Amino acid sequence: LTDASPDLSDALRVLHRVFGYDSFRGEQQQIIEQVVAGGDALVLMPTGGGKSLCYQIPALVREGTGVVVSPLIALMQDQVDALNALGVRAGFLNSTQDPYERQAVEQAFLADELDLLYLAPERLRTEGTQRLLDRGRISLFAIDEAHCVAQWGHDFRPDYLALSMLHERWPKVPRIALTATATEATHKEIAQRLALEDAKHFVASFDRPNIQYRIVPKNSPQKQLLELIRTEHAGDAGVVYCLSRASVEKTAAFLVEHGVDSVPYHAGMDARDRAANQARFLREDGVVVVATIAFGMGIDKPDVRFVAHLDLPKSVEGYYQETGRAGRDGEPATAWLAYGLQDVVQQRKMIDSSEGDENHRRSLAAHLDAMLALCETVDCRRVRLLAYFGQSAEPCGNCDTCLTPAESWDGTVAAQKLLSTVWRLARERRQKFGAAQIIDILQGKKTAKVIQFDHDSLSVFGVGSDLGTAEWRGVIRQLLAQRLLAVEGDFGTLVLTDASGEVLGGRRTVPMRKETAPVPAARKSGGS
Ligand code: ADP
Ligand code: ZN
Repeated sequence: LTDASPDLSDALRVLHRVFGYDSFRGEQQQIIEQVVAGGDALVLMPTGGGKSLCYQIPALVREGTGVVVSPLIALMQDQVDALNALGVRAGFLNSTQDPYERQAVEQAFLADELDLLYLAPERLRTEGTQRLLDRGRISLFAIDEAHCVAQWGHDFRPDYLALSMLHERWPKVPRIALTATATEATHKEIAQRLALEDAKHFVASFDRPNIQYRIVPKNSPQKQLLELIRTEHAGDAGVVYCLSRASVEKTAAFLVEHGVDSVPYHAGMDARDRAANQARFLREDGVVVVATIAFGMGIDKPDVRFVAHLDLPKSVEGYYQETGRAGRDGEPATAWLAYGLQDVVQQRKMIDSSEGDENHRRSLAAHLDAMLALCETVDCRRVRLLAYFGQSAEPCGNCDTCLTPAESWDGTVAAQKLLSTVWRLARERRQKFGAAQIIDILQGKKTAKVIQFDHDSLSVFGVGSDLGTAEWRGVIRQLLAQRLLAVEGDFGTLVLTDASGEVLGGRRTVPMRKETAPVPAARKSGGS
């Protein structure tokens, strides 16, 4: 090392010698120059964009240890092992270690023998860790998954709020905050909470042009998934997300039974089985992992050809992050989501019964609403997705609505029929029912339950015989999505909202997306 302060040529040398790459990607060079020179940076870059090098290289060329704050404790060992394999001196401190391991890492840090030190955010809050950092030499702070500091974001972690202290306690140390998902509001909140308003902001395009987005009506999800795999992704590696552990197990078993090489992954499994399944997915070709969203953070498998969701993600940020694990190699990949009425009912119920204050519930509800709007749109999915992150785009030609344009129809009359049925039941009978009974009444079906409750004498009985059951379910789903109808209680009973009156009174029209048959969309020809 010379006395001269490090610069771009040092960064390039590390890029070649340590990481074995020829050139920087996207804005990596500008970001690295900023941090190497001691400046602060806020980086918004999609998954697979190459965020890690943005702090690893500055940490290697600057004097001292780069301290990386990351909530992904389970991955720290792997990250450190991977760096060690490249000859980088890295260590981590988190709650999974025994005191001896911890001490060894602390000694190495104090002896200035570490290039990178990974820390869990709750560690940093402790006075002991802060004093330790005071006694060593810090080259930079990297705050990974920086969206976790945003209270209005989809993945808030209270421990992240304490990170504003970094700037106060170590004002001279450059800081780089990184995230792969941030709306404009979250972006602002990160800058404000971490005191990065004066930092240089680097915002990459969030577009992943090689990913084909498709959202289909959910009928029998496992069969639909099998069809997708057989017709378009036979022998491909893929990730299938399910909401519950039970459905993970069932879906994985179903796929195996039908000849698809697949393994389950969720937090309730034995740790060894889980690790073995993950290893198979990473090392072997064409393995499908069926998982809860616990799976995938930090997993870098470039040739995942499809990501399928059998249940609705809770937010657009989550959806974007999870689908972003497809096609990191730039080759065509599919993001496929099956979505139905039951998803809306279930998620609204989960929000109502969730812990936390009213603000928290409001935030969850707003995230769900944005996700529902993406599902129900008749516009290009990509345009909608990018707009959510504050970026504009042209219709892409590589999503389901571009490939088979969705028709919209005027659902106002249907909505009025449905809402007035709910209203009459409440008003005339003091009753509430779920979707199935409401639809039977609308269609004029004399089922046992209809007769039992004398619902065939309602004036609305049979007024909706023009639409089929799937269509009525679509109407209910879209009314729920637009908050013109709500669900209540454990049985998913339907109730009116404040806005229902606008429709019933003819002051509001209700455009709807036509239910389309779940045919696989044609794949775009040509490469990436
Ligand atoms: P992110 O954290 O943004 O999701 P990573 O830092 O994990 O992305 O990088 C994604 C992949 O791209 C990794 O395999 C990484 O080694 C590779 N990569 C990053 N930068 C470069 C580069 N300049 N040239 C070639 N490959 C790169
Ligand atoms: Zn499109």
